[in-house]
Amino acid sequence: MTFKNEYLQKVYNDVEARNPGEKEFLQAVGEVLESLEPVVEKRPDLVEAGIIDRIVEPERQIIFRVPWVDDSGKVRVNRGFRVQFNSAIGPYKGGLRLHPSVNASVIKFLGFEQIFKNSLTGLPMGGGKGGSDFDPKGKSDAEVMRFCQSFMTELSKHIGADTDVPAGDIGVGAREIGFMFGQYKRLRNEFTGVLTGKGLSYGGSLARKEATGFGLCYFTEEMLKCMKNDSFAGKTVVISGSGNVAIYACKKATELGGKVVALSDSNGYIYDANGINLDVVKQIKEVERGRIKEYAERVPGSVYTEGCRGIWTIKCDIALPCATQNELDGAAADALIANGVIAVAEGANMPSTPDAVAKFLAAGVMFGPAKAANAGGVATSGLEMSQNSERLSWTFEEVDSKLHGIMVNIFHNAYNASKEYGFEGNLVVGANIAGFLKVADAMKWQGVAY
Ligand code: NDP
Repeated sequence: MTFKNEYLQKVYNDVEARNPGEKEFLQAVGEVLESLEPVVEKRPDLVEAGIIDRIVEPERQIIFRVPWVDDSGKVRVNRGFRVQFNSAIGPYKGGLRLHPSVNASVIKFLGFEQIFKNSLTGLPMGGGKGGSDFDPKGKSDAEVMRFCQSFMTELSKHIGADTDVPAGDIGVGAREIGFMFGQYKRLRNEFTGVLTGKGLSYGGSLARKEATGFGLCYFTEEMLKCMKNDSFAGKTVVISGSGNVAIYACKKATELGGKVVALSDSNGYIYDANGINLDVVKQIKEVERGRIKEYAERVPGSVYTEGCRGIWTIKCDIALPCATQNELDGAAADALIANGVIAVAEGANMPSTPDAVAKFLAAGVMFGPAKAANAGGVATSGLEMSQNSERLSWTFEEVDSKLHGIMVNIFHNAYNASKEYGFEGNLVVGANIAGFLKVADAMKWQGVAY
């Protein structure tokens, strides 16, 4: 990757040399550094303080063995990770991902992005991420429980309500958080808000489950309103994925007047011209833990197509990628643009390749990058932490209204930064700069340990 600025080029080259082959991490760092070109020119004090050299290196990385016993009595081994990337503005905060594709590069890219996302929420949270290459698919509840307990046995030594507060992510929902919380409490003999995304009966927050998907739609609605005087009303919407983020994005987009016509999983996608029936999806995915294919078997008139990438060839006004990283490439962006898409907002983390992002921006498509558009989940986790500290529970409406306010603010902070630094309307640049400046300032004032 090449940069106009010599200093940024050197930082990137050092990261590349130090993290060979970590393509997701290098992609995330490259994208942020590119956005910081105007900051480097305007803020030599930050260069002087070595902020950018420091911010690309995690404060701490923990990699550990996770042995567990399957239902047949066989010992299995997975690899666990926790990357504590930056604690300048608060305790490390970020999800745990359980998916076979998890490795150090994926966790570091997610942890790095999390620093700026958490900063954008305006809440005091540092950046971290963790997980394992364990695949919960096809495992019994007892196997998932034994894995989660073993994972937490090691992780519990490194986290705490004022140190590092993990949450859910791909493959980690209420079931897994419950097993992990139980194990933490057993080992430490303390009931603290050490994880977010907890069940409502033991310290969870109302609206946390809905938060990322709802927040994504609140952000998109504000972007449509402020940049094009438009809204979700009457728009055709395509959403990839059919997990936590996708389901609640589908719900809110529909409530705001959009018609969601497609959802997917890693095997394929469904198209329903009448608008997705979310009750059927929730039954399949949340209750039966089944495949999205089954929707087409249950809803007349809907169609299933094998292969998840084809979803972007469906004609739509608004596209919300909510599955995983690099799921929307340059060819998919071309197809969306040719079909007249007006807005793309990222529910997943880094779902669009750099090529796709460049194409959207060049075509004048409104583009909401993940670290701004999907920050509603971690923002509501921050609200869960506040409720735990107060030992109080807020109503759904209270949490939802705070979430709405936070998403509107994030849009304006990113938009205003894009304008101030000469890239009006480029929310990639705006979100990176706005998220970076707060953390950079905190790092500068906290000094360097000699
Ligand atoms: P879930 O595990 O609930 O759902 C993930 C969905 O994405 C499933 O439909 C899954 O399909 C699909 N998927 C996963 N991996 C792949 C792949 N390699 N190719 C295609 N599809 C895939 O996760 P979430 O909904 O929680 O997370 C989705 C995205 O949103 C992730 O990028 C996550 O980091 C991000 N995110 C989540 C937040 C949250 O609060 N949950 C907060 C902010 C961001 P299948 O069942 O076939 O694997």
